Amino acid sequence: MLKIENLHASVAGKEILKGLSLELQPGQVHAIMGPNGAGKSTLGNIIAGREGYEVTEGSVTFNGQDLLALEPEERAATGVFLAFQYPVEIPGVNNTYFLRTALNAQRKARGEAELDSMQFLKLVREKLAVLHLKDELLHRGVNEGFSGGEKKRNEIFQLALLEPKLAILDETDSGLDIDALRTVAEGVNTLRSDGRAFLVITHYQRLLDYIRPDVVHVLADGRIVETGGPELALQLEEHGYAWIKDRVAPEA
Ligand code: ADP
Ligand code: MG
Ligand code: MG
Repeated sequence: MLKIENLHASVAGKEILKGLSLELQPGQVHAIMGPNGAGKSTLGNIIAGREGYEVTEGSVTFNGQDLLALEPEERAATGVFLAFQYPVEIPGVNNTYFLRTALNAQRKARGEAELDSMQFLKLVREKLAVLHLKDELLHRGVNEGFSGGEKKRNEIFQLALLEPKLAILDETDSGLDIDALRTVAEGVNTLRSDGRAFLVITHYQRLLDYIRPDVVHVLADGRIVETGGPELALQLEEHGYAWIKDRVAPEA
């Protein structure tokens, strides 16, 4: 589904990703762990098509399509979702209106009919029920005064509504409390399905106590330096990232 080969990318003239390769199949949950500054967020941003990153080598394909050739909106329409894609507070803009606009933009780009407000409301009710959420966040301004946990609930709700094929969650520096982590984890576990893959980026192992990934990768210094099963996350927790550095570049 997602295939990244030998990806090199720079930010502000500095090379951050240095030959990263990664492959995800539908239905899988992959975790990306790694020390601060390794390039984890850079990877997520490049897949989603955020501005400011220059890909200098390598390829990213999604179901065989060259993702790097597409605009961010086109990537979203093909089914790529980056949490924090809409992180901004937009005071005064009703969250329901905003979500409907985002969904309809994707539907339109796919050549599907847009949903009117009744149809959208029906969908919203379905998704709220699936996630066991209340509708309280929908009546407020987009992220306006949302707590960390509320932002997470809103993000998971966006994910449920937009029904992406690939969801990228970057949980690294968000300083989430345990309840917010649970919200994310329960959302991911609920929305896991055969046709959908998740790339969960996290600095800490504790999120993976709640989401059991199929594959764990360690990203260090711009490359995937280790790939394994869930046990790899536990080993990291135990030994720290220095352990990986020693394995990658053993001291003479
Ligand atoms: P991680 O998410 O693994 O902590 P990032 O991908 O955020 O790492 O950052 C990787 C490196 O790229 C860091 O050294 C960071 O300072 C640098 N970097 C990221 N974004 C920018 C930017 N917009 N301008 C300059 N340097 C950046
Ligand atoms: Mg960071
Ligand atoms: Mg980060």
